[in-house]
Amino acid sequence: MLFNDLKPSECTDELVIRAITRFKNRKHPIEIPRNKAVGIHGFSHEYINYMLGGTFRSSYTPLNDNIINGRIRGVAGVVGCTNPRVKQDWVHVELVKELIKNDVLVVQTGCSQISLANAGLLTPEASHLAGPGLAEVCETVGMPPVLGLGSCVDNSRILIACAEMVKTGGLGESIADLPVAGAAPEYMSEKAISIGHYFVASGVYTIFGVTFPTVKNTKFHKLLFEDFEEKYGLGRWDFALDPYDMAKKMIAHIDKKRKALGIDKTRERVMMDFADRQAIEG
Ligand code: SF4
Repeated sequence: MLFNDLKPSECTDELVIRAITRFKNRKHPIEIPRNKAVGIHGFSHEYINYMLGGTFRSSYTPLNDNIINGRIRGVAGVVGCTNPRVKQDWVHVELVKELIKNDVLVVQTGCSQISLANAGLLTPEASHLAGPGLAEVCETVGMPPVLGLGSCVDNSRILIACAEMVKTGGLGESIADLPVAGAAPEYMSEKAISIGHYFVASGVYTIFGVTFPTVKNTKFHKLLFEDFEEKYGLGRWDFALDPYDMAKKMIAHIDKKRKALGIDKTRERVMMDFADRQAIEG
């Protein structure tokens, strides 16, 4: 009966009935979290334009200006799945907290938006977790330090925003010049790999976690992890398991791009240590 493609409704009904019938067989206690959280979602490329520039003068200029003057160190897309092979929500939440503490504005798509909303990161009040430069911009505009742009198929919105940053000027000639980075720290589907490659081919440094489906020390691995950037001027792939390592790598890439653009002098290139972070959270 199951998976009869001519009777889809009956199949799904039977699946649900079987699950309900077997629920009583579960031996371990079931923990359903009781916390409720609010998130502000649905920032499109157009809305970011209006939010930053106003209804009559919609513009990315305030974003570019604040990147050039160093209040915002760069922009990170942290996107994608949550993966049952790692501790629930932990990698996404820690990575994003680490990035915003270091003045990196985060844009987000995909299922992990729920994780970030649960951690209270999708409200303007979360700006108290951001570094001083990013917090100042968020408080001025009234925006969260993490902007939810939609589902994982809305990643094109992130690239539209990147293209708009290039067009606005002052941050290089192509997406590959921008101080931006992408991550799918808990990806678990082939679709995520293809979306990641769309970003790499568009010029974005992109880092994945959990596992990576290539073999180290092969020509193909080198092509993805080195040659794309060094020989062809595109983005490149990278990999890390730990959210703090991942944040370090992304920030190092953002700083490399700031240096290439000649805007590295506008901010001190230091990673915040544990004491700095405690001071912000305290
Ligand atoms: S690929 Fe699937 S699981 Fe991953 S973010 Fe998209 S919809 Fe969610």
